[in-house]
Amino acid sequence: MIEKMELLDVDKLIEEFESMTKDAGNVQRETLKKILEENGCAEYLQNLGLNGRTDPESFKACVPLVTHNDLQPYIQRIVDGSSSPILTGKPITTISLSSGTTQGKPKFVPFNDELMETTLQIYRTSYAFRTREFPIENGKALQLIYSSKQSKTKGGLIAGTATTNVFRNSQFKNTMKAMQSQCCSPDEVIFGPDFHQSLYCHLLCGMIFREEIQFISSTFSHSIVHAFRTFEQVWEELCADIREGVLTSRITFPSVRSAMAKLLKPNPELADLIHKKCLGLNNWYGLIPELFPNVKYIYGIMTGSMEPYLKKLRHYARDLPLISADYGSSEGWIGANVNPNVPPELATYVVLPDIGYFEFIPLKENVEEAKPVGLTEVKVGEEYEVIITSFAGLYRYRLGDVVKVTGFHNLSPELKFICRRNLMLTINIDKNTEKDLQLAVEAASKLNTEEKLEVLDFSSHVDLSTNPGHYVIFWEISGEVREEVLEECCNCLDRSFVDAGYVSSRKINAIGPLELRVVQRGTFQKILNHYVGLGAALSQFKTPRCVGSTNNEVLQILCNNVVKSYFSTAF
Ligand code: AMP
Repeated sequence: MIEKMELLDVDKLIEEFESMTKDAGNVQRETLKKILEENGCAEYLQNLGLNGRTDPESFKACVPLVTHNDLQPYIQRIVDGSSSPILTGKPITTISLSSGTTQGKPKFVPFNDELMETTLQIYRTSYAFRTREFPIENGKALQLIYSSKQSKTKGGLIAGTATTNVFRNSQFKNTMKAMQSQCCSPDEVIFGPDFHQSLYCHLLCGMIFREEIQFISSTFSHSIVHAFRTFEQVWEELCADIREGVLTSRITFPSVRSAMAKLLKPNPELADLIHKKCLGLNNWYGLIPELFPNVKYIYGIMTGSMEPYLKKLRHYARDLPLISADYGSSEGWIGANVNPNVPPELATYVVLPDIGYFEFIPLKENVEEAKPVGLTEVKVGEEYEVIITSFAGLYRYRLGDVVKVTGFHNLSPELKFICRRNLMLTINIDKNTEKDLQLAVEAASKLNTEEKLEVLDFSSHVDLSTNPGHYVIFWEISGEVREEVLEECCNCLDRSFVDAGYVSSRKINAIGPLELRVVQRGTFQKILNHYVGLGAALSQFKTPRCVGSTNNEVLQILCNNVVKSYFSTAF
């Protein structure tokens, strides 16, 4: 039977969102009630003495704030196959592996139908607002998405990254169709066993359907930049495949080859056209609109640890709008980008009050004692740590993200993502976050513009093997650059950490001179390969911005590839 696909009713979706956010406080109460009613019989909640109460006050009084570590024993029993209701009323049958690049190893979180539904809800909501500003026709999307392997846990549950669990769900495809956003690549490419091969085929499909492509997307925008950097390397091979209608022998998986064979026909005109366009570009500036004449925008998460890739993305995208995708995690979704006109640096996310119950720990006060506040009690201008209570078995779960409230959409707050909560760089009284590191790298890389050199990626490490300890910043750069410039970059990095603890420690040499280590080209690709080898998906990959000593393998990759190192003389 051919399924009739209805397009989404954008006006209705927006209307629903508006009325729900106007009533955010009540919707939150109702949502908590629903979560607790559906899962009240779960062992975890039974032990906390709620006795059927579902109001926020009782909930907060009985249920403790937890981290992933606290829930680990419960989740482990689920993973091992216990079928009793442990965290949720209905048994969990699927597990998500969060990308885990922040902690050095993937962690398990429950995934269920409710989480799938909230994922689609957030996709639909931001689509409605996006499409009102930037209408798309019924074409295709070049979606740079990849699915990692789904495996079975010891207890027989399906396990994969959250994006894998979403992409493999049949509802994902239907929703993409209803959003006129079908991926131009066949499933065999998305679910291909090797992401290098999938990436090549995504690019090839993009070329084949170039006139129909309406937008380019990925979960995290790193994948888009990564794809077009790869395009710079393989464009001639892509053109050759299109010319002859024969796929390069580099693609070895039979399922991928036969799916691609159905699409690939000899097309010398197209090959000539792409060849000519590529030769006509200056340092690949404007590559995307040249390749895809009908693209309306680029879409993917561009905030937080993705911000450093914006410069390169703009270079490829020329004047195409860059729209940041929504805010969420493997644990659950939080907010939608309903202001697609805003540049990614200013993007905010409006919390959907019915996809979970949200609390926020104020960070202004003494952190350990600060009491979490409810969704409608947050204050504009203040920073908070996000706490999630989800439909998938997480109760008062500290997500570890820091957000800032920038305003309200009706009664629901608009959040700006600030950084991960974990302090990354700290030796004694200094405290520097991922954001501080990003700002320091930005400042130092600006010194390079005259040299036409580019920081391709970066990370950091606290080296306590020296006395005193010192910060190490790893850079992968492109282009030849003079020693003096890198020495100045190193000093600039050191000076750019302006937190009082750092500056005063540096002055008295309680922290040693910052060290800039330049690594070989391809080092960050090796790190990516390492994580993918561990089961992470390229779709969810985030470069670890700080590598601790416990993450020995990644630290070794970085240290083994150092070509030059500089010590700051700034203090
Ligand atoms: P994962 O563990 O792969 O599910 O990644 C979830 C984490 O990615 C979140 O906790 C955030 O730290 C980050 N993240 C997700 N969405 C966004 C966003 N829109 N902006 C910035 N960071 C995000």
